[in-house]
Amino acid sequence: MDLTFSDTQLAFRDELRAWLDANPPGEAPEGDDARYAWARDWQRRLHEGGWAGVHWPKEYGGRGASLMETAIFFEELGRARGPLPANVLGLLLGGPTVMVWGTDEQKDRYLEPILSAEEIWCQGFSEPDAGSDLASLKTRAVPDGDDWVVTGQKVWTSGAQYSKWCMLVARTDTEVAKHKGLTYFLMDMEQDAVQVRPLRQITGEAEFNELFIEEARIPGENVVGGVGNGWKVALTTLMNERAGLAFFLQVRLRQHLDDLIERAAGNGALDDPRLADSLADLHVRTEILRLLAWKGLSTIERYGQPGPEGSLTKWLWSDTNQRLSQLAADVLGAEALTAGTPWAYELLRSPGNSIEGGTTEILKNIVAERVMGLPRAR
Ligand SMILES: Cc1cc2nc3c(=O)[nH]c(=O)nc-3n(C[C@H](O)[C@H](O)[C@H](O)COP(=O)(O)OP(=O)(O)OC[C@H]3O[C@@H](n4cnc5c(N)ncnc54)[C@H](O)[C@@H]3O)c2cc1C
Repeated sequence: MDLTFSDTQLAFRDELRAWLDANPPGEAPEGDDARYAWARDWQRRLHEGGWAGVHWPKEYGGRGASLMETAIFFEELGRARGPLPANVLGLLLGGPTVMVWGTDEQKDRYLEPILSAEEIWCQGFSEPDAGSDLASLKTRAVPDGDDWVVTGQKVWTSGAQYSKWCMLVARTDTEVAKHKGLTYFLMDMEQDAVQVRPLRQITGEAEFNELFIEEARIPGENVVGGVGNGWKVALTTLMNERAGLAFFLQVRLRQHLDDLIERAAGNGALDDPRLADSLADLHVRTEILRLLAWKGLSTIERYGQPGPEGSLTKWLWSDTNQRLSQLAADVLGAEALTAGTPWAYELLRSPGNSIEGGTTEILKNIVAERVMGLPRAR
């Protein structure tokens, strides 16, 4: 893959850089709700500037940017230390899923409020007994006139407390093979039958929630992709989840590593050969990750969708990010272990990296079977 930017790509990058310079994201405020409001306001500003749906086609209100330009967008956003837009699940997962599987009416109704952050989306896939093995989920939807009535429990639902719509996968047929009995719904979160209970994490914040759903009503017109086709629609959502964030995450990692190397140079830690060696190792891993992210892009360009190699990128990122936050404790000592400091936050938040968006064990299975062609584990 040729990593030299064309004149058009350079012009795109320069225009974006100028916009980011003129519209700095500012510092994140304290507290979950204030931080969320800040990220939502950030998305509104991106939208007004025409930068919210960079990768969305123009006909849906996006910028119609190429894949390369989208990668440049996420790299530059990371470089400007801007937060991810508040409606990141709508922008990266929900919107693209509706574009592929939705009816014209659904596209008209749902896409624009995703871009403007007017309506926030969450992803109701995982359940207490269905995470990696999503197809074994038990939340039931039964028809009632033109509606569906849904009962069950979801868990780890990020941003549900701020969401208007939930991408909900539920079982609509118990008589067929488990992958075939699923349907993908857009569930209105603003109803009494949906109870959202925040789950407090070790970092102190509550990014995700439990959802208790007791006879919630979903109109038939909110089925996406047809009854019984939920597994395929959910796969579209999941593929977009892994592909979209790679560039943003590898830039963030690079920044954190550069910050740590600077601190290590300042406090004498770089004179310790063991620490210097570990920092060099992280440097190499981070560079490999950058190149893998670009390589993943060429797969999408060639085959029209992300390949299984995306699992390798996600695995390497979570592993490197965890090593980095642990090494920071060796380099910075007590500071990295003091509650409220950015490095203590990283140390507490990074263990979740190897679970969210697919666990490392599952990703290793995918790499073994679909990239290396080894026999199936089960
Ligand atoms: C920060 C964060 C945010 C999240 N946000 C959301 C969200 O918004 N919406 C949502 O639906 N979910 C969300 N999740 C849930 C996430 O998708 C699941 O936690 C994940 O899919 C794993 O499922 P599980 O927790 O049920 O673990 P399990 O699937 O029960 O796995 C338990 C352990 O067994 C291992 N394991 C399972 N199967 C295999 C196998 N076949 N081979 C080898 N090892 C295996 C796993 O790797 C893991 O170590 C979030 C999770 C986190 C940490």
